[in-house]
Amino acid sequence: CLVTGMAELEGLEFGKSDFVLLDEVTMEQFMENLKLRFEKGRIYTYIGEVVVSVNPYRQMDIYGKDTVDAYRGRELYENPPHLYAVSDAAYKAMKRRAKDTCIVISGESGAGKTEASKYIMQYIAAITNPGQRAEVESVKNVLLKSNCVLEAFGNAKTNRNDNSSRFGKYMDINFNFNGEPTGGHINNYLLEKSRVVQQQDGERNFHSFYQLLRGGSDEMLESFHLQNDPAVYIYTREGATSNNDRSSHKAVMSALGVIGFSNEEINSIYQILASILLLGNVQFETDGESVQILGLEAIDHIAELTATEADSVIKSLLFRTVATGGGEVIEKGHTEQDACFGRDAFAKALYERLFCWIVNRINSVIEVKDYNPVLHGKNTVIGVLDIYGFEIFENNSFEQFCINYCNEKLQQLFIELILRQEQGEYQREGITWQHIDYFNNQIIVDLVEQPHKGIISILDEACLTVGKVTDTVCLESMDTKLAQHPHYTSRKLSPTDKTMDFQKHFRIRHYAGDVTYSVEGFLDKNKDLLFQDFKRLMYNSADPVLKEMWPDGQLSITEVTKRPLTAATLFKNSIVALVDKLGCKEPYYVRCIKPNEMKSPVLFDDARCQHQVAYLGLMENVMVRRAGFAYRQHYARVLQRYKMTCEYTWPNHLMASDREAVEAIVTQHGFQDDVAYGHTKLFVRTPRSLYTLEQERAAL
Ligand code: ATP
Ligand code: MG
Repeated sequence: CLVTGMAELEGLEFGKSDFVLLDEVTMEQFMENLKLRFEKGRIYTYIGEVVVSVNPYRQMDIYGKDTVDAYRGRELYENPPHLYAVSDAAYKAMKRRAKDTCIVISGESGAGKTEASKYIMQYIAAITNPGQRAEVESVKNVLLKSNCVLEAFGNAKTNRNDNSSRFGKYMDINFNFNGEPTGGHINNYLLEKSRVVQQQDGERNFHSFYQLLRGGSDEMLESFHLQNDPAVYIYTREGATSNNDRSSHKAVMSALGVIGFSNEEINSIYQILASILLLGNVQFETDGESVQILGLEAIDHIAELTATEADSVIKSLLFRTVATGGGEVIEKGHTEQDACFGRDAFAKALYERLFCWIVNRINSVIEVKDYNPVLHGKNTVIGVLDIYGFEIFENNSFEQFCINYCNEKLQQLFIELILRQEQGEYQREGITWQHIDYFNNQIIVDLVEQPHKGIISILDEACLTVGKVTDTVCLESMDTKLAQHPHYTSRKLSPTDKTMDFQKHFRIRHYAGDVTYSVEGFLDKNKDLLFQDFKRLMYNSADPVLKEMWPDGQLSITEVTKRPLTAATLFKNSIVALVDKLGCKEPYYVRCIKPNEMKSPVLFDDARCQHQVAYLGLMENVMVRRAGFAYRQHYARVLQRYKMTCEYTWPNHLMASDREAVEAIVTQHGFQDDVAYGHTKLFVRTPRSLYTLEQERAAL
C-alpha cells in the first residue's frame, strides 16, 4: 500500500504518518501515535490531506532550502508529512486547475498557528518567481515583511503565549496565470483593544509600545516627551520588557520602510503610540462640582503629538456635546468616572484605528493593480487564515464570547466541507457507506447569531434600549429567552450550580467545551461608545495621517446616527463574510495542537492533547477519511484520460456504458479492491492507484 510506503519512507519507528493507517481508530491509538511522533521529532502527521501539527517548542531543522526543494512540485504521498506538502498541494490546485484555494489554520493559543502561517508563506515565496522578476520580488517582500509589522502592533505576551496574536488575520495572495504572486489583501478581525488600557497579571500590552520605549532613539523619545521606561506609564507598567524589544523595533522600522511607508507616516505612527502612553497617565480630580485634569503638561505634549490644540484636548476630555430632544446642542461636563471612561475609550480607539490604518496602508501597496483577466488570464488566489483559537480562561468576557463564536462558525465550515459534503456525495452516488455520527454544532451557532432570539440580538436590543440597562438586566433577558436552549444555562437556570454567580454568569456549552462568561462589561464593550468629541478632535488634527483615520469626525452631533452597529454585530458580519469567502475555495486544513502549558519541547501532556484532539473533531475526521475515497471523477473523464492504458478501451470501447469501460481499466490494473463505483463517478480510495495509472499513461 502506498501510504504504508510513506510510513516506510520515514521509518516505522516514527509511527504512522497518516492517522488513516491506524490499526483501529480509537482515541488510545490516535494519542499513542501522536505522542510517539512528537517524541521522535515528527511534528506533522496527516489525516488524508489535513495536516495535524504539534508545536515542537524548539527550532527544527526542517524548513531550509533542501526541504523546500524536496517538496516542490511533489505529491502529498511522496514525502513525509509537512506543511510544505499541503502548501504545494494548494499551490498546484491553484496553478494547474485554476482553483482558488485556502489554508485554514486552527488551534488554541500557543498551538503554533502563526508560525505555521509564516512557513506556508515562506514556502510559497520560495517556489515562485524563479526568474526573479523585480515586480514579483517586491510583492513577495512586502507580503513577508507585513508579518513583522502586524506582529509588532497586533501581538502581545499573554499567559499562554509570549507572542500571542490578538487579532484574526486572513490573507489572500493573488497569482497571475503563470503562478507568480502579483499582490494580496489582508483582512483583520477584532483586535483585542481592551489590552491597550488593561492587561491581566503577567501579561503585556501590545509589543509596539515596549519596542518604542526600549528601542526608540534618544532623540525620538525626547521629541515625543517619553522616558525609556515602560514602568512610568500606566498602560505599560504591568508588563516587563523583553530582550527582543530593542532589536524588534529596528526590524519593524526597517520593514515599514521596505513596505513603502514614508518617513512622515512612520513618524505619525509612533507619535500616535506616544500620545496613547501619555494619555494613559492623564488623571482627573473632582472638587465635588467640576472635574479637573491633573498635570496639564502632558496635555500640551498630547496636543503637540496629535497636531491639535491643547484647549480642544482638555475640552474633549472633560465635556461631551449632546443634542437635547429639542434639537439644542449643549456641553455637558463629565463626572470623574465618565472622564476616565472617555480617556480609556479614546486610547483604545486611537490604537484600533492606527492598527486598521496600517493594515489598509499595506493593502494599498500590495493590491493588484491594472489586472486585466482578458490579457493576463484568470487571477487566482490562495488564502491563509490564522485566527484565534477557542479560548477558555478563568475570566471569560465579551472578547472570548466573540472568539469562541468565530470558532463555532469555522467548525461549521469544517463540518460542511470535510464531513457533510463528503457523506452527502456518497449517498447521492449510491455508494455503500457506513454513516459516521458527528456533532453538528449548528445549534450553538444559532444560539449566538439567530435574529431576534440569539445572544447577539439580545445584547443589541439591550444596548439600544433608552435608559440605563445594566449587564445584569441583560442577563435576565437572556435567561428568560434562552431558558429552554440545551446549550445555554446560568445560575438562575441551574440554582444548584455554585460555580456561577446569579447576577454575573452564563454558560455556553460550546462544541469544544463549557465556557462560563461573566456578563460584566458586555454591554459597554458591545456598545463600544466613543464620544463624538474625540472623533471631531482627531478629524481636526493637522496631521494628515491622523485625520485620515477619523473620517467620521466630520459629522456634527446632530448628524451622528443614534443606532450604530454594535461591536458584536460588526464582528458577526465580518465572520459571516469570511466564512462565505472560505466556503467557495478549495480548503486545506492545518490543525495545530499545543503539547503542554509549560512551553516545553519534551513534555506531552496527554490529557491536554486529548482534549484538543477531541474538540478539533480529529477522530471523526479520521473515520470519515478512512471510510472514504480520496479521489473521485466522472466516468467519462476517467476514460478520456486513461483509455490508452487498456486494450479494451483503446481507441474506443464497445461496452454498454462508460462505467463498464472504466471497470475494465481498473481490473486490468488490478486495483478493483481500492475503488467503488458510484452512479456517475469512480471513487478511488488511495492515491497509489491513480499514481499507477498516471505512470502507465506516461510510459506510453
Ligand atoms: P495565538 O493564538 O496565541 O496567536 P499561535 O497558535 O499563533 O497562538 P504561535 O505564536 O504560532 O502560536 O506559536 C507559539 C510559540 O511556539 C512560538 O512563538 C514558537 O516559540 C513556538 N513554535 C510554534 N510553532 C513552531 C515551530 N514550527 N517550530 C518551532 N517553534 C514553534
Ligand atoms: Mg498567533
